[in-house]
Amino acid sequence: MSIAIIVHGGAGAWTTSDERFRTALEACAEAAEAGRAILLKGGSALDAVEAAVNILEDCPVLDAGRGSYPNAEGNVEMDALIMDGRDLSMGAIAAIQRVRHPISLARRVMVESGHNFLVGLGADAFADSIDFPRCSVEELLVKDLHLDEVISSRPAEQAAIGDTVGAVALDMSGNLAAATSTGGTANKRAGRVGDSPLVGSGAYADNWTAAVSATGYGEALMRVVISKRVCDFVGTGLSARSACESAIRVLEERTGGEGGLIAVDARGQVGWAYNTRAMPYAYAVEESPVISGS
Ligand code: ASP
Repeated sequence: MSIAIIVHGGAGAWTTSDERFRTALEACAEAAEAGRAILLKGGSALDAVEAAVNILEDCPVLDAGRGSYPNAEGNVEMDALIMDGRDLSMGAIAAIQRVRHPISLARRVMVESGHNFLVGLGADAFADSIDFPRCSVEELLVKDLHLDEVISSRPAEQAAIGDTVGAVALDMSGNLAAATSTGGTANKRAGRVGDSPLVGSGAYADNWTAAVSATGYGEALMRVVISKRVCDFVGTGLSARSACESAIRVLEERTGGEGGLIAVDARGQVGWAYNTRAMPYAYAVEESPVISGS
């Protein structure tokens, strides 16, 4: 059985020649390599996507965990979703504050909470009840590069998008998993939740078809339930790549929105597509060298 993993660092208005983009690409390559190492040892797709996303959450230029954008009140509220393609189980959190690895908390929600999705104060209380590591808001607010420009150059209704993170993988047992983690759009209203933690929008994983992670303008992505749409396209026989491209076309034609997608199908074929300026990604299939690009 083959193994495969693909990760992204967010679809947005990246300048591919600058230092920030290079840092994002390096983080993607590191994340894909870490996920692949787990898969090659026989580890699960769930473990691989969680480990890959943890690395991306630690990268200060990416909008997840450390490096999340502040909202309009200067606070950091993060969203995350993890999904297991074996039985469609899922864990999600929204508007969580003061955690460095929201995806790991989402996984604990999936396994230990008895629920699928916890938000705000309830998510906080759950985190404390399982002694999940907490951090200060200052530890998360490390994004200095280009932030003022991003925030001031766009009206709130066209909030900045760009550096959400995600990973999808296929393991040796034929299981698929997907994970997406974000600080949400820059300068968002307090309490705003985007597509990322919504099942079928920010991510989806189903062993029968594919695992998908989405990024981009959440207010548009959620309206076309974009990740589930990719799985459905794969189910009709499209390759992972064509399915991502078709879903981006639907996004554009139905909402005018911008975004990006990564996918791996049940045979281990990877795909991606985006209609923004760039989207750093990296993938690893079997033992071939990691390929990164945009
Ligand atoms: N999709 C994320 C959101 O709307 C943002 C992003 O992908 O950059 O919260």
